[in-house]
Amino acid sequence: MHTIDDFTRPREYLSPLDEYMGKIVRDWAEKEVIPFRRNYDEDWKEHNIIEPAFDKLMGELGMQRVLFPEDLGGWGLGHSHYIGSASFRMFEEVARADSAIAVAFGVVFWPLIMICNKPHVNRRLCEEFSPLFCQTDKAVFAANAMTEPQGGADIENLDIVKGTTIETTAILEGDEWVINGHKLWPTNSGGIADLFGVVCTTNPGSDDVNDFAFIFVPADTPGVTQGGPYQKAGMAADKNGDIWFENVRVPAFYRACGPGDDYKYFKEVISFGNLGSISFVSGAMLNVYEILREFVDTYFFKGKPLKEHDAVAGVLADLAKDIEIIRIIGYQYARMIDRPDIYGDRWSDEIVAKGRAYKYFACDRAVEDLGKAMNLMESYGSERCWDIEKHWRDLKIVQLWMGGKQLCQMETARLFFDCQTL
Ligand SMILES: Cc1cc2nc3c(=O)[nH]c(=O)nc-3n(C[C@H](O)[C@H](O)[C@H](O)COP(=O)(O)OP(=O)(O)OC[C@H]3O[C@@H](n4cnc5c(N)ncnc54)[C@H](O)[C@@H]3O)c2cc1C
Repeated sequence: MHTIDDFTRPREYLSPLDEYMGKIVRDWAEKEVIPFRRNYDEDWKEHNIIEPAFDKLMGELGMQRVLFPEDLGGWGLGHSHYIGSASFRMFEEVARADSAIAVAFGVVFWPLIMICNKPHVNRRLCEEFSPLFCQTDKAVFAANAMTEPQGGADIENLDIVKGTTIETTAILEGDEWVINGHKLWPTNSGGIADLFGVVCTTNPGSDDVNDFAFIFVPADTPGVTQGGPYQKAGMAADKNGDIWFENVRVPAFYRACGPGDDYKYFKEVISFGNLGSISFVSGAMLNVYEILREFVDTYFFKGKPLKEHDAVAGVLADLAKDIEIIRIIGYQYARMIDRPDIYGDRWSDEIVAKGRAYKYFACDRAVEDLGKAMNLMESYGSERCWDIEKHWRDLKIVQLWMGGKQLCQMETARLFFDCQTL
């Protein structure tokens, strides 16, 4: 019988960790998440049921350490040539069980990319923050605080807007940054995060990329306030809320890469955000395939299993075709990220824009396919016990974040049609 493992992956360039890590995460997902995930929606605020799954994966199994250098207790993924393909596998396996756990787990690494990845490793900050993640068996969360009340898409639209709309300010006073501002929506906010990577400006309204700053702020620094989590349509395992920074003081060396380089390498953060989003779609869709298989094998119409009817098989083929393609595209993008010597820098406008194109392709296909899958299942599609409607709610949310579909379209058009003003 065919399974999820028959969807194609590029076997010639999987990471050396692939088999080992994939198996560990799959076992964890099957024991710690899938049997409990149906109760996650009600646990959106407290995380009583959800938290043990995070602790097991990130703390006990040590997955929150992977980006840090080995001599600091990490697995050295940040300086490997397989960070993209290893991450894709890891996140896909998590998202097969729950894409909100995948994003909450993935965003732990998101701000750390700025300091752990070759060629811009900030050794001093790795030493500063690695104990938080590497010397505990409890889950520790980081957050990437970009979005502000006046708009998230503009802040991510780096190429054109160049940080001119950022209102969170960082002023250097002696050997400290003083940060003021209001962020909202970051994954792992809502009271969860222990460490923020904060997108700031050192000169409000400036389009000088030297004024774009990425500064780390431990969540317990005086002046940091986190609001409670928002209640969303899905993705209960990911908490999102408001964060206020009022005269928050952190050491000057907490700036990730420095003038010009913060802007440049933040684009790499965006590339990884796109890669992660595709892997969440791919993982969740693999589970949709598993659920549908069970349904069309066991439900009968006119004496034959559903799948043996032409009209049904056509829809099943559409879904399988899309899962196959989304997975291939995701791994291709992972490969492009792993091999900058072939495809160009991860922070190049080309890699960012191609990631946006693949991300919105994957999300669009998945959202449409989930609608079709639910139609096939009729009333059962809406029934929580099948988990299809869960993936439908969750993947719609993946489509919305990181500037939404429009920013993906703008950046793709800008790249391929040399648009000058978008
Ligand atoms: C579950 C979840 C997790 C999230 N995680 C994070 C996170 O980790 N960190 C973080 O900082 N934020 C996070 N966000 C916030 C998210 O990234 C933003 O909501 C998103 O970027 C859009 O910003 P906005 O809501 O402010 O909309 P706006 O930026 O105000 O955009 C409004 C509308 O205008 C469109 N638009 C914007 N610019 C253009 C343009 N140039 N051309 C055409 N249309 C345009 C947008 O596509 C959108 O339709 C998360 C959101 C969710 C739901």
